[in-house]
This record gives sequence, structure tokens and C-alpha cells, in this order.
Amino acid sequence: MKTYRIAVLVAAAVLCVSSAHAQKPKVVILATGGTIAGAALKPTDPGYKSGAVGVDVLIDAVPQLKDIADVSGEQIASIGSQDMNDEVWLKLAKRVNELLASPDVDGIAITHGTDTLEETSYFLHLVTKSDKPVVLTGSMRPSTAMSADGPLNIYNCVAIAADPQARGRGVLVLIDDDIHSAHDVIKRHTTDVATFTSGEAGLVGVSLFGAQTWYRTPAQVHTAKSEFTIAADQATLPRVDIIYAHANMSPDLITAAAVNGAKGIVIAGVGDGNMTAPAWTELQRVAKEGVVGVRSTRTNGGITRRNIEVNDDQGGTVASMELNPSKARVLLQLALLKTSDAKKIQDYFNRY
Ligand code: GLU
Repeated sequence: MKTYRIAVLVAAAVLCVSSAHAQKPKVVILATGGTIAGAALKPTDPGYKSGAVGVDVLIDAVPQLKDIADVSGEQIASIGSQDMNDEVWLKLAKRVNELLASPDVDGIAITHGTDTLEETSYFLHLVTKSDKPVVLTGSMRPSTAMSADGPLNIYNCVAIAADPQARGRGVLVLIDDDIHSAHDVIKRHTTDVATFTSGEAGLVGVSLFGAQTWYRTPAQVHTAKSEFTIAADQATLPRVDIIYAHANMSPDLITAAAVNGAKGIVIAGVGDGNMTAPAWTELQRVAKEGVVGVRSTRTNGGITRRNIEVNDDQGGTVASMELNPSKARVLLQLALLKTSDAKKIQDYFNRY
């Protein structure tokens, strides 16, 4: 009888421990490099090397992570995000979808340089096939800096990836306590810790030491409902160039982009997606040759709508709507995998 009681107690204790373990959400951290993994020689050194520190070191630097999630890490790349490219995007997208398809994974946290974080996050926003949280973070100060911002950003990022309330809100970016939608977030300052903004669209929420307050769910199509899919054998994406408009802009860079194999061109237009008459004439000419032109704006605010000052119907071009040039480039790359019909591509820009 006594032996029986001890056996029951032991079984209960084992059950307790394993259910406590099972209750902790499983979050995978995918590391790509950036300042968050950067190292300098001194804590006050403004110069440093991006991506010098591996994912295990990042995880070990924040022991509190194990209180909020069952965390594991994978190194996808070790680059400054100025070197982010289609190859790493495809690798990342395939791994994210593979991991999220597993019932054992509750969410994904991705560490990334801040320079192109607005693009990678939007790419994943369009090709992730799950409602589970995917959250990117970075930092403005290297891991060795005085007042490094990386550790708390990673902590909050993992907390959001583990938060069931983050589900269905698309890919998110956590920086400096703010939760942004990948659709809206842009980098607005070269060195400021609070470098990211979502402009008029506003924050999706905020996080304070891992506790979230949610404000909204992004309205545009994304993640599980997106029509864009990265096939297992997808090895490249169509080339799309961005050309910055300015006073006295010549048409030559548009010509050069088309000659060098661009399938699409995004104009970072002045004002409401404008450019000089010679540039506009050339954009229409290359459109007739099948190179899709998208008009966006260099103002970093507002919507570039169709047929306002520039006649897109006549020009065979597309208006970028809310997307700034770097995000318009991402959507155009994915749209071009499906069609080069400017009207159909406009429909994507209206909905995504
Ligand atoms: N150029 C680096 C990068 O984007 C540094 C910027 C950062 O991570 O804050 O990876």
C-alpha cells in the first residue's frame, strides 16, 4: 500500500513538471546578424562590426528568456542587413514556414539589422503561411555598447512571439517597446534608438518588459490569407530597381535599369509619385516593353494614388498606394512571379 502511494505521488510530480514544461510556448529565434549581434572594442566605441556574435550568445545574454518561453536558436545568416538579399530572404521564408507548420512551434523571433528590417519584415508578411506570430527585432547599439538596447528588444520580441494575442496580426516588428506592422514600419533616423515609425497608420501595440497592450490588427491582406507563396524550389526573385526622383532628373537610369534586366522599376517619386517629363516618358516606354513601373514617393508619408496628377491608365504604370519605395519593391518582386499585367499588379497594391 505504501509503495502504491509513493508511486502515485511520483507519477503526479512527473505530470506536474511535464505539464508546466508543456505550458511554456516554444519560440524559435532565427538570427541573421545586424547591430544586435554587433561587437565593438569598447562600450563607448561608435564603430563596430555587424553580425559578429552568434545566436547562442544572444540567447545566453538574456537568461530571463527561459522564464517566458522554451527557446531555441538557429543561425540563418551573419550579415549587416545592408547585405540582405533575395537568397537569404528565400532561405528565411522557407525555414519560417517549415517551423510554423510544426504543432510544436508557437512563434518565431527573428534578429536582424535595422537598415533593411522594413523590407525583410514586409517580405515575410507576404509569404508566411500561418497565423502564428513572427516577430522581428534589431537594435541600434551593438551588444557590447553602454546601454545596449538589444537584450530588452530580444526579450520583448520573444514575449510577443509567445503571445497568443499576437496571432493573426501579420508579421510584426518590435523595437524600443513599440510593436509595428511590417506593412507600415520604416526606419527614419540613422542612429536614434527610437528610429522606427509607423507613420499615420500607427502602432499595432506596445510591450513593457514582455507585457503587451494591443491597439489594432492591420487591415491589408497578409500571411495566412496572402496569395504569395515561396515554392520549395524557388531560387531567385525577379529583379526590381528603385530610382530616386529629383529636380532635373534624367531618364537615363530608367533606361539603364531596363537594359540591365530589371523586370520592374519603382520610382521614389517627388511629392505624389512625380518625376520629370523625360523620366515619365521613359517609364512609359519601358512599360510597353514589359518592364512594370510603380510610382511611389520619396516623402515617406501619405498615399500615392492612381491617376491623380499622373495618368497611370495611359502610362501603363502602377501607383504604390501606402507603400514606400522599399516596400513597393518587395511587393512588385512577388507580384512579378505571378503576372506582368500592370492592372493586375495594381490590384495587389490596392489590397496588400
Ligand atoms: N548596417 C547594420 C545593419 O543593418 C547596422 C544597423 C543596425 O543593425 O542597426 O545590420
